Amino acid sequence: QAEANWRWDKSVCRFCGTGCGIMVATKEGKIVAVKGDPAAPVNRGLNCIKGYFNAKIMYGADRLKQPLLRMNDKGEFDKKGQFKPVSWKRAFDEMEKHIKAALKVGGPEAIGVFGSGQYTIQEGYAAAKMMKAGFRANGIDPNARHCMASAVAGFMQTFGIDEPAGCYDDIEITDTIITWGANMAEMHPILWSRVSDRKLTSPDRVKIVNLSTYTHRCSDLADLEIIFSPSTDLAIWNYIAREIVYNHPEAIDWDFVKKNTIFTTGFANIGYGMRTEAEAKKLGYSAKELEVIKKEDAKVISEKEAPGLAHLGVKAGDVMKMDKADAAGAHWEISFEDFKKALEPYTLEYVAKISKGNPDEKLEDFKVKLQELANLYIEKNRKVVSFWTMGFNQHQRGTWVNEQSYMVHFLLGKQAKPGDGAFSLTGQPSACGTAREVGTFTHRLPADMDVSIPKHREVSEKIWKLPAGTLNPMGYQHIMNIHRQIESGKIKFAWVNVCNPYQDTANANHWIKAARELDNFIVCSDAYPGISAKVSDLILPSAMIYEKWGSYGNAERRTQHWRQQVLPVGDAMSDTWQWVELSKRFTIKDVWGEQPIKGGKLPNVIEAAKAMGYKETDTMYDVLFATPFAKQFKADDAIGKGFDNSEVFGDARKVMGSDGKEWTGYGFFIQKSIWEEYRQFGLGHGHDLADFDTYHKVRGLKWPVVDGKETQWRFNAKYDPYAAKAGNGDFAFYGDFAKALKKGNLVKPTTEETYSLKNKAKIFFRPYMDPCEMPDREYDTWLCTGRVLEHWHSGTMTMRVPELYRAVPEALCYMHPEDAKAKGFKQGDMIWLESRRGSCKARVETRGRNRTPRGLVFVPWFDEKVMINKVCLDATCPISKQTDYKKCAVKLYKA
Ligand code: SF4
Repeated sequence: QAEANWRWDKSVCRFCGTGCGIMVATKEGKIVAVKGDPAAPVNRGLNCIKGYFNAKIMYGADRLKQPLLRMNDKGEFDKKGQFKPVSWKRAFDEMEKHIKAALKVGGPEAIGVFGSGQYTIQEGYAAAKMMKAGFRANGIDPNARHCMASAVAGFMQTFGIDEPAGCYDDIEITDTIITWGANMAEMHPILWSRVSDRKLTSPDRVKIVNLSTYTHRCSDLADLEIIFSPSTDLAIWNYIAREIVYNHPEAIDWDFVKKNTIFTTGFANIGYGMRTEAEAKKLGYSAKELEVIKKEDAKVISEKEAPGLAHLGVKAGDVMKMDKADAAGAHWEISFEDFKKALEPYTLEYVAKISKGNPDEKLEDFKVKLQELANLYIEKNRKVVSFWTMGFNQHQRGTWVNEQSYMVHFLLGKQAKPGDGAFSLTGQPSACGTAREVGTFTHRLPADMDVSIPKHREVSEKIWKLPAGTLNPMGYQHIMNIHRQIESGKIKFAWVNVCNPYQDTANANHWIKAARELDNFIVCSDAYPGISAKVSDLILPSAMIYEKWGSYGNAERRTQHWRQQVLPVGDAMSDTWQWVELSKRFTIKDVWGEQPIKGGKLPNVIEAAKAMGYKETDTMYDVLFATPFAKQFKADDAIGKGFDNSEVFGDARKVMGSDGKEWTGYGFFIQKSIWEEYRQFGLGHGHDLADFDTYHKVRGLKWPVVDGKETQWRFNAKYDPYAAKAGNGDFAFYGDFAKALKKGNLVKPTTEETYSLKNKAKIFFRPYMDPCEMPDREYDTWLCTGRVLEHWHSGTMTMRVPELYRAVPEALCYMHPEDAKAKGFKQGDMIWLESRRGSCKARVETRGRNRTPRGLVFVPWFDEKVMINKVCLDATCPISKQTDYKKCAVKLYKA
């Protein structure tokens, strides 16, 4: 009876890459309940504890409801002033002024945007389009850079096309689930419930292995737990490959390998993606910080690394110089014999010695475990899925270790088949759908295209109806570089969208100081006043998930749309609206003239624009968002057609634009027009998406969607129409760019000639290498960071849900009881964790969900009172530029 007046509609959870469907109930303009959607194929009616609180996140007491600007008493902007409420018009006036000033002094490279894997697809598209086509600036990068850039680089280098071959149905089909650096039980709980079902219904046949640097909840269900030393997963993969090649050659699926793959290597990328020593010195970094940073340019080979690099003629103590030319990940084709030779040193003895992560475990016992692991992969007729998330991706060799997982699956022919495959999971709800597919990464355009490739710019300029030469091939700014360029003073204007970079970025002290103390203007769009909002100069109140139309793409390539259910609180507006609104402030004359950039100049395209029918005074809104294509979709025409709850279409509120014009039904109009334009990029190129109306009738579809049908397993001709069309037999790895190769030997390419691969993927050999900072006498403990089940990312939403807050009110420092005893700590003591970069306080926890081996502590990062990212190291994988949050050296002492 109480539910009699509730209106239920299908929607999506916004809390992780699993992509569960939920049902949302509204009453009198408020969300009053959510529940799992029984018709959703991902979660079949279940939600995890965060999922059940999707509604409560919207109604926290301190929800931001109006723009706030730092001002002095005279009402002028003042970087040292207090936040005071302003109108949207004033907010956009300030943004326009500061962007124009930044463009004047530094060109397009003077502006930066912190984007997100939590952007809706339409938000990410609007932001990327305005930045890349409007401002001609590539300084936009999502927080997904910290999350799965290594997976992307691994896909692109291995397959020439992004995202997994498999889907979640693999869980019910496979016999073996192996998690590598993935705490699925807490980070993808609904997937873990499917794993648990699979295991508990076939306990003898189904095996689960958990590989991690500490014990977490996945181990509770696992048949085998392998605790390895940070970074040595690279060596373990090579051990498995060696075991196959040397001791079980009959297990190699030669038919698969010969038809579908080639062997490759490349090892020159030995830097750690940090600032150079010279730049850090100039900016006043401390001697302690420089100790680590100076390893960026050269590396002394350690005793641990030397055996695995013997094939290069390198010995312990040798210095390897980073070859900058190879920093983008150069690699070349080698013979199988070379591949085999490179694996030779990775014997059980050598790998067990360097990778054993629990000092209390006997080496012989650990060796038995590694053998069991290899045997599970090798066993004939045993299906195997390897899942990974941040343990692989947040890794100074993140791209390499992603590639190594494909290496083993390819050798055994256990890839792109139902129940067999290497499967990269994502953390955020639209890391795939938005950050990757839309192209909010600095270097990307929609549908896997790249701004540095002339053909891709040409295709994009055509779809976007831009003059040739508008898009900027230069000025990549991955997310760490956006922070670093703010610190160097080169970026003068930055906008934070749907993320919290001043809490979530490693080495945070530097970035907070740069934002607060330098001459720049930082804007933060958010729903709550988190650390980034507090650090910024202007705060914009953002609409939350059910206050706007949207769509996300999850880890199994499933795109799901939802409808707006309620009006945003106060003056909050969607991020799409914010970007579109900003576009009205810049004319063709303002941004399309000649622009100085690093390495040259962007051409003046104003005359070409005029020849296309544009006027100099046309705004970027006229050009980018009110295109003739978009105008096909008038809100009034669409309302009420074909959907079951027409009363919620569009934002019924009359929206006053900063240009003084009134907008009606804005939400629906812009969402549909953006979607239909966006999907033009992928049609016919392996990224086919369905139309807007279809998604509003179904519970998501896995792309490519061809002739109305989704694709379960890509590259497999039985399931994937593109693979079938390739005419390559059972499989076709048809990703068709970034695959040109040279041939060579183990040491270097030996031919200048490059050639393209057709329908083939690459099997990489990558050597084990140490991380750039490891425990020593002074900083004697490994620090690993991550998340907990109850809180989402930096906690700005979930810490405001009373039930979730009470469940886990603070971030704890999980440590081994013996370590605590040796240092004189008791359970519950407050201690300092200090690294070369900074320190923070946390409470000691020696029990509970995370059981760490001696020598390693784990601290989650959801709690703004425990700013662990002040301690973490901002080293990245040199290829993917993804930050390594999983390992650095700290010392611990009582607070
Ligand atoms: Fe939401 Fe992820 Fe939980 Fe599913 S598993 S309900 S998507 S947080």
